[in-house]
Amino acid sequence: MEEMEARRLVAAEGKVLLETGLVARTWGNVSCRVDRNHFVITPSGLDYEHMTPEDLVMMSIDTGEAVGNRKPSSEKGIHLAAYELKPETNYCIHTHQTYATAIGLGGITTLQVTKEEQEKLGGMCVASYGISSTKKLAKQVYQALQTGANIIFMIHHGVLICGSSRKEAFERATLLEEICYRNYRMPGDDRTLDPSAQHMISQVSNLREGAQVVCTKETLAAAELGRSIPAQVDDMAQMIGKKIPFVNRANSDEVVAALDKCGAVLIKDVGIIVWDPLAEEREALKVLTQKAAIVYLHTQACHVKGTLGSIDVFLQHLIYRTKYAKQKNK
Ligand SMILES: [Zn+2]
Repeated sequence: MEEMEARRLVAAEGKVLLETGLVARTWGNVSCRVDRNHFVITPSGLDYEHMTPEDLVMMSIDTGEAVGNRKPSSEKGIHLAAYELKPETNYCIHTHQTYATAIGLGGITTLQVTKEEQEKLGGMCVASYGISSTKKLAKQVYQALQTGANIIFMIHHGVLICGSSRKEAFERATLLEEICYRNYRMPGDDRTLDPSAQHMISQVSNLREGAQVVCTKETLAAAELGRSIPAQVDDMAQMIGKKIPFVNRANSDEVVAALDKCGAVLIKDVGIIVWDPLAEEREALKVLTQKAAIVYLHTQACHVKGTLGSIDVFLQHLIYRTKYAKQKNK
């Protein structure tokens, strides 16, 4: 494919992925092969709304290095693995899609998929864990790709989807999410916000301006279990740390103290309340706490633990806090 055409396709993809909910913020990344030895990939940390074709980074497959001065996505290693191993792969999408993340943890062996869907997906495999952006993760993905699969579940993280074209990769990503949604399981029945909780929510919003309630059937069901939600997915480990604590709602001071510490609390008959001084962070917390609740319920229904190792959580949270502090002081 012409370089300019590849750049245009990939630059436009981010917005589509955001709209379809397959990624949030600057998470996830996209790449397209230009020739036998090169591909272009989204840059590190730039938001999809403002991405132009010129922002993309050209990578050499032979050397694994960027051509030029721009910094490629920190997750370039998994894309590189796909282009290196699979000559038929021309396009890769790495998503943080919610239901596939849950299914990846619950296990894919019992996934109900029709024959036709199976053909369209082009093979699936689960890669062992590695912290995002590390060589270890790229190695695990490389190994999983050797099975011939075009869809790699990166456990505790997201999915890498390969296609011979942009269309094929994107269709695989959306079909996968449909299938995973269909196979999703959660304990408990539908619940709604307890009207008496409204008072506590307004008290908390007075104390922490901009605090928001994520009141969905999933967060309510998770709160009904009466336990903290452990970190099972990298993005939660990064932003929140080891758990979303379960707090009794009788005491709004306790809720506020937990919000100051973790940015999110789980409360029975309320759901999850999130808070951060920055509006942008609050929005991200809303998205990832909902995802954390969805993933947690599925692992509970499947009787799988799915909790990230404490060192992996600690490291990722520390790195995130350091980066965040820098951002805040800018
Ligand atoms: Zn990722």
